[in-house]
Amino acid sequence: MSSVTTGKLSPAMEQYMRFKREHEDAILFFRMGDFYEMFFDDARQAARLLGLTLTSRNHGKTSGDIPLAGVPHHAAEGYIAKLIGLGHKVAICEQVEDARKAKGIVKRDVVEVVSPGTALSDTMLDGQSNNFVASLFVDKDRAGLAIVDLSTGDFTLDEMADAELPGELERLGPSEVLVAEQVTEDALSSWLAGIPAVATTRLADWQFEHNSARNGLLDQLGVRSLKGFDCEEIPVAVRAAGAAVTYLRDSQRGALDHINRISRRRREDCLLLDANAQRNLDLLVNQHDGSRDGTLLAVIDRTSTSLGARLLRQWIAAPLHHPDAIESRLQAVSSLFEGHRERAQLREQLNRVGDLERMMARVCCRRASPRDLVGLAASLEALPTIAEITGLFDSGLLRKLCTEELPQAEGLVRLVRKAIVDDPPAAIGDGGIIRDSFRAELDELRGVASGGRDWIARLQVEERERTGIASLKIGFNQVFGYYIEVSKANLDRVPDHFTRKQTLVNAERFITPKLKDRETQVLNAQERISELETEIFTDVRDRAAAWAREVQQAAQTVATIDVLAGLAEVAEAERYVRPVVNDGRSIEIEGGRHPVVERQLQEGRFVPNDLLIDCESAQILLITGPNMAGKSTIIRQAGLIVLLAQMGSFVPARAARVGVVDRIFTRVGASDNLVQGESTFMVEMNEASTILNNVTPRSLILLDELGRGTSTFDGLSIAWAMIEYLHSGTEDKPRTLFATHYHELTELEGRLPGVHNYNVLVREEKDQVVFLHRMLPGPCDRSYGIHVARMAGMPSEVVSRANEILERLESLRDKRDGLPVGEADCELPTRRDQMDLFDPRRQTDPELRRLLEEFREVQVNHTTPMQALELLHRWKKAME
Ligand code: ATP
Repeated sequence: MSSVTTGKLSPAMEQYMRFKREHEDAILFFRMGDFYEMFFDDARQAARLLGLTLTSRNHGKTSGDIPLAGVPHHAAEGYIAKLIGLGHKVAICEQVEDARKAKGIVKRDVVEVVSPGTALSDTMLDGQSNNFVASLFVDKDRAGLAIVDLSTGDFTLDEMADAELPGELERLGPSEVLVAEQVTEDALSSWLAGIPAVATTRLADWQFEHNSARNGLLDQLGVRSLKGFDCEEIPVAVRAAGAAVTYLRDSQRGALDHINRISRRRREDCLLLDANAQRNLDLLVNQHDGSRDGTLLAVIDRTSTSLGARLLRQWIAAPLHHPDAIESRLQAVSSLFEGHRERAQLREQLNRVGDLERMMARVCCRRASPRDLVGLAASLEALPTIAEITGLFDSGLLRKLCTEELPQAEGLVRLVRKAIVDDPPAAIGDGGIIRDSFRAELDELRGVASGGRDWIARLQVEERERTGIASLKIGFNQVFGYYIEVSKANLDRVPDHFTRKQTLVNAERFITPKLKDRETQVLNAQERISELETEIFTDVRDRAAAWAREVQQAAQTVATIDVLAGLAEVAEAERYVRPVVNDGRSIEIEGGRHPVVERQLQEGRFVPNDLLIDCESAQILLITGPNMAGKSTIIRQAGLIVLLAQMGSFVPARAARVGVVDRIFTRVGASDNLVQGESTFMVEMNEASTILNNVTPRSLILLDELGRGTSTFDGLSIAWAMIEYLHSGTEDKPRTLFATHYHELTELEGRLPGVHNYNVLVREEKDQVVFLHRMLPGPCDRSYGIHVARMAGMPSEVVSRANEILERLESLRDKRDGLPVGEADCELPTRRDQMDLFDPRRQTDPELRRLLEEFREVQVNHTTPMQALELLHRWKKAME
């Protein structure tokens, strides 16, 4: 509000300023007639963000021109959605009395504050995903994190070491974060490192105090203790959760019946996939443009409802860990897979179910439209048939779901069907919502109103007869109300008791006392009908909130059935098989395929591959092979097959046996994280150390290149040492797949019994490479990088020069018994003078010449990583 002009403002502007002071962090939409107006900085910002015209208006004697931008009220929702999507908050200030009846300035009030985390309307939300508010509280080294989706009622909490908070936030991806006033900007930005652009709301410190937070939570959940919710021993998380409840209650003015349970996110029950793994495996959004294209989700999402679509995302992000729980899902998918015809019937019924959770959330927050109520009833009406069909399948899980966990809220259906017409208008004020015979008073009023219209039609006939003017018409307009219209040619026949009201080009309009009386009766009746309909509707809507728990339970069950049926559908369409998931430690995949890559290729072009990995003789598989051969595809497909199996899905393979994994770690490719001040290599090393510091005996580690962001010697040494550590330096013996271009690493096969070499084949045909994409035991000796460069359209002179250099390097390597290619370039025919520096013969400095000679003598094949590190250390010291 930097540019508020001083001086006396108009009363409307004074009112505006009062609301603006209360909602400084929001853009204030100030209702004036048919428009929402924004002023001052809000106007400038909105004009820029929404592409509105910025104008100015004088709102007082001395206040000068005030910047102004406005949007028509009927189009406001789209504009609000856009602002929310950009991370802003919007406070909506309505006229709360009829402007015609207002004495002085019309009364206004802020009726809603919409923020990214509190949006409820479908225009502002993506039906396919949750919209989370995250409340954070850190006490010493413990962090509490509560996550609420106001639009569905999902409410979870957990506590963790404070260092884990940024990763957990990134994994959950909230759209708004709540923190205490006292949190410093530095602390906040370190917590939000993975989600820097998120909307942040500061709450008073007392809201996070333990007693008030806990009491607020107990009150909201209607319980005396939190024991039943498994969160008595996580007090820091309770403080975060309590603050979230207060914030949401305030934002919805207390109407929050659907936030009625909370559960603990127990990470140990799930296969843990940190944000890195989710990203690297392209699970929910792709790394390229952040959309769903090319993701696992896009391939396997065959759900019929938004409820199912949202649950599927949760299952992908947090697959299960206990074989029994996985088995019960697999049995359900299997029976749905077998029962093709019943499954089709079931999916037909599921198609009838709308977004029960979001409609119910709007009911509870007093924001439901008539169509939401009818949508709820229509969706609930599908439940008995869904229960009946679900009971036909041979699965304990499905039977339990349909017999014990699918309440049908018949009372709510009866209430809505009795009160509300089948196809009501979208908005409440439009009338025509309540059924005839629901309320006697309404029926009577409707009689008067429609009788009034009949009466007017009869009057028209009578007046025509009485005056003899056949073209006489009775009409209605907003300004004059009912009138009698007579064309100019017939004016001489107009009787005396007609009073002239309006002159048109070809006609005159008149009123009569009789017409006016009747008009008043009709208009009064219509006004009263509208009031009464709103009253009845509000009452029905508030009563509907009593079914919140039942509807939420039904929604969860429908979502589960829908996801399971969708997984059966994809299994059939994509030829997936049922995996065996057990407590063992090996992963055996026969004819495995990458679910996304195979879809991008023509039918039958994807080459399946086998894989066996365990914690003993085949603990670490080193996969070498030319560029573009398919190394990354193989290691990612192993991860995806494990993940699919553990979420209870069939998998893209001929057969698969999976010894459960508790965490998938990935280190894939490399990218700078300049925003957080980290270079490519630093990102790489951070990821690698996270893996080494957190690995468990049941982990699966997927390494796609490591150490490429630094010099060959450093990178190779680190990769080598890391493999040694994973193999012998820890008791955990995690299963590891490592794709690399460091051919030197293949020597580890003989030295470490658990390490095995594999390579992905290519065939050379007349100077061309043909990619066979088949993985076989044994190392590979070449990268074919230059072939790939040629295929990519590199100028031919560069390609042939590269070939020349390669030949020379290879001959040097052969002479020197395996000196790494990168280090042999001192012998190259040079094009650049600076290369001379590395030529010992041209070196005049005796110390440097000695070092370079020593460097030449190194036999990499006979040097351990430790020795390599020592050498590096010694050389560096000598150069200081
Ligand atoms: P680089 O070393 O250059 O990173 P890479 O060996 O990791 O390459 P990928 O990225 O896995 O190679 O695969 C390259 C392309 O080859 C894929 O995009 C895909 O089109 C194709 N491809 C990979 N695996 C297969 C397969 N099994 N069957 C058919 N095509 C495949």
